[in-house]
Amino acid sequence: MESSVRVELVGSTLSLAKYSIGVGDRFARQAKAQLQACEMAAEYGVEVIPVWNKSNREHAIIGSTPAKTRAAADEAVKALGWSKPYHVDADHINLKTLDKFVEACDFFTVDVADLIGQPCEAAAVQTFVKAHGELWGELRVPGVAHPFCVERNFMAQVANHYLAAVQEAGRIYRRLEAMKGKGQFITEVSMDETDSPQTPAELLLILVALADEGVPIQTIAPKFTGRFDKGVDYVGDLTKFTEDFSDDVAVIAYAVQSYGMSSNLKLSVHSGSDKFSLYGPIHRTLEQFGAGVHLKTAGTTWLEELIGLAEGHGEGLELAKEIYCEAYAQRQDLCAPYAAVIDIDPALLPAPELVARWPAEQFAAALRHDPNCPAYNPSFRQLLHVGFKVAARIGTRYLDLLSALEVTIAKNVTGNLFERHLKPVFIGGRG
Ligand SMILES: [Zn+2]
Repeated sequence: MESSVRVELVGSTLSLAKYSIGVGDRFARQAKAQLQACEMAAEYGVEVIPVWNKSNREHAIIGSTPAKTRAAADEAVKALGWSKPYHVDADHINLKTLDKFVEACDFFTVDVADLIGQPCEAAAVQTFVKAHGELWGELRVPGVAHPFCVERNFMAQVANHYLAAVQEAGRIYRRLEAMKGKGQFITEVSMDETDSPQTPAELLLILVALADEGVPIQTIAPKFTGRFDKGVDYVGDLTKFTEDFSDDVAVIAYAVQSYGMSSNLKLSVHSGSDKFSLYGPIHRTLEQFGAGVHLKTAGTTWLEELIGLAEGHGEGLELAKEIYCEAYAQRQDLCAPYAAVIDIDPALLPAPELVARWPAEQFAAALRHDPNCPAYNPSFRQLLHVGFKVAARIGTRYLDLLSALEVTIAKNVTGNLFERHLKPVFIGGRG
């Protein structure tokens, strides 16, 4: 696969645009419908670059390959005549899993969360603290209301907690660079899949350490305060999130200016999709700072496929119900790998016998994330979100119905991505 035709080189570096959206497409059938949503944003004069992301876990469950994600993206871009950049993201890779992504991807989410809190050499901690006397004491970062208090002890503590992760990011980056070539790919470092959030002051020290390590990151995904469950809204302290997000954006601008990090460095929000209550505050912060963001969403496009199947009535509706019925029976197994990022109330899961009698509208309304609709059922939605293994097992029958009901499904996929995500985050207003 030749990569030179599909990359945009700025100077000699593949550079991620100011606004970008990470989309998941579990069965690699909706790239066109997703891209359509970016075209709609373009009609509003807002350029949002699509990035197709899929993790190793998702590929393993579905039995797909990164090459398939790449092919679906290429095909959609060709079909719609999309002339702007687009990328394919090796989502949450590490040294053990990266090899199979190298050829097909040009965006790598280097996941070093497992190394957070792991011991690192005392000498490295001391070197870091000594090398950065400029940070000691009261540190004023433009755009942050209160100065950070960076005592040497605090620096040593943060270094001790994060340096092993930063060094691992360096190892992964250098391996990728050796395989793909310098400047030929976009590097993100993710620290979101860990127990406690990073504060803005910690984020600054992590960025400085990454700069020391020579990792040319273009996006960083910290763990924010609150819960980011898959496919449902944010649960947490909205005021605290808004403050932290704004301070993080300010910290990034400071790191770019003071530590020579990539000028397009920005936050990546691993949203798990549908964090509707955060989108207003995020949009306002971006406007205020003139900053960019990468909004990574999860594979909720597959839920739009199910909604489209249900709305197709007949066989489509029957299959959607069958999938729920099986997911319900296997709910323990399906939920286990996602336990930390779902919150299902078993008492709110409707019995399959009941769902079997639902008309199409009721199935669609229970699943579709419209918080104002009384029929919307977040537990039903989350179970189906993790239930894609069931559809993967059904295989051809599922995929054939996706083709047969393509128009109904595409309308849901595009509408969901544009109205509920792109518009509030990048354009503003829920209109
Ligand atoms: Zn993540």
